[in-house]
Amino acid sequence: MAARKRVAVVGVGTMGSQAVWRLAARGADVVGFDRFAPGHDRSAAGGETRIFRSAHFEESRYVPLLRQADGLWRRLQAETGRELRKLTGCLLMGPTAHDQMRTVLESIAEHGLDHEVLDREELARRFPQYRLDDGEAAVLDRHAGFVRPELTVLTATRRAEELGASIRRYTPVHEIAQTGSGVEISTEAGTEHFDAAVVTVGPWVNQLLPGLPWPVDIRRLINAWFVPKTDDWSGAERPAFIRTAPVHCYGLPSPDGISVKVGLSRDLHRPVADPNRLDRTVVPHELDVFAELIGRHFPDLHPDPIRLSVFMEGYTDSSRPLVGPLPGADDIVVLAGFSGHGFKLSPAMGDIAADLALDGTTAQPIDFLSTVKRVAA
Ligand SMILES: Cc1cc2nc3c(=O)[nH]c(=O)nc-3n(C[C@H](O)[C@H](O)[C@H](O)COP(=O)(O)OP(=O)(O)OC[C@H]3O[C@@H](n4cnc5c(N)ncnc54)[C@H](O)[C@@H]3O)c2cc1C
Repeated sequence: MAARKRVAVVGVGTMGSQAVWRLAARGADVVGFDRFAPGHDRSAAGGETRIFRSAHFEESRYVPLLRQADGLWRRLQAETGRELRKLTGCLLMGPTAHDQMRTVLESIAEHGLDHEVLDREELARRFPQYRLDDGEAAVLDRHAGFVRPELTVLTATRRAEELGASIRRYTPVHEIAQTGSGVEISTEAGTEHFDAAVVTVGPWVNQLLPGLPWPVDIRRLINAWFVPKTDDWSGAERPAFIRTAPVHCYGLPSPDGISVKVGLSRDLHRPVADPNRLDRTVVPHELDVFAELIGRHFPDLHPDPIRLSVFMEGYTDSSRPLVGPLPGADDIVVLAGFSGHGFKLSPAMGDIAADLALDGTTAQPIDFLSTVKRVAA
């Protein structure tokens, strides 16, 4: 029988919590390290909701990974009895000629996804809370909805602990080094040896791995919560939504029915020089773009937000995440740069991390992602 591998997971956030679950489920001796405690809101995973969708406007090649993630979302829910995901649909709205509208319809046709196309009149009848411009339409992705980020991170971590993983909370890792026979992890308490390490530190990736051949672009994202003027948002169908152009934005009716969360795309976010010094104060002029969007496309929302939160996310140039072993360090597997669309994929990414850490390879179709080796080549 093969010896049980000892694997460190550095960063028990979105991807790391799934990695500890998948590694522990496969019998590895797993130790997870996080600078805070799993479920915290100081990084990429706060704000109560994230969109889950099947149709992909970025690239249809994500759909098989989403299917893998879909099965694991169900499995984590079944193993823990927690409702982590709710399928309420997701509306993608924008000019019919826009690239992203075309790509989403291509991904639907290619993979036979359950959907409806709604023209302006039909959308106004079914979902009066949204307003489309001339030449715009909406695609309703039916196998879509929201996932609960904090609860998911906590639940996956807890499940991993039940399966034998050990989680070191409030334990930042200072250094990771490949040795001839594995990996050394250094913390305040000293240096420990592991057979392999999975590095899922999100916005801290440039700091912890200064040897990355390209930096990940870290951005500061604002989420704003708005209260509806009518009850239209609290009906049975409460899909998440994304608008493609002219201003890319997304939103989710909050699970408690009280408000609607709205966020913006990457271009509208300031870079973050140091993730340890994230400026979490939102100044009034940063809200202008939200007010404009609401006036034009979401007339049923009061334009003054009732709540604001600030998060961070890492972006790559291509928006494809970096997944794979670090160049010159085969036992260090990196997952980073999820570019604003990683949460829905996270159980699949945790499973892929487990494949790579335990077997050095994966059967999942990740060749199109920015695998770390290919980017470095
Ligand atoms: C506002 C916002 C909205 C989004 N909306 C969506 C959406 O609707 N749908 C979707 O699919 N995706 C969405 N995303 C993207 C998704 O949330 C991210 O891609 C994902 O959370 C990134 O996960 P991660 O594991 O890379 O980072 P994180 O979840 O941030 O995890 C990194 C972890 O590493 C820990 N850490 C850092 N440094 C160290 C260290 N040195 N030692 C130990 N631990 C360390 C941190 O404490 C943290 O827990 C959104 C992101 C944001 C910010």
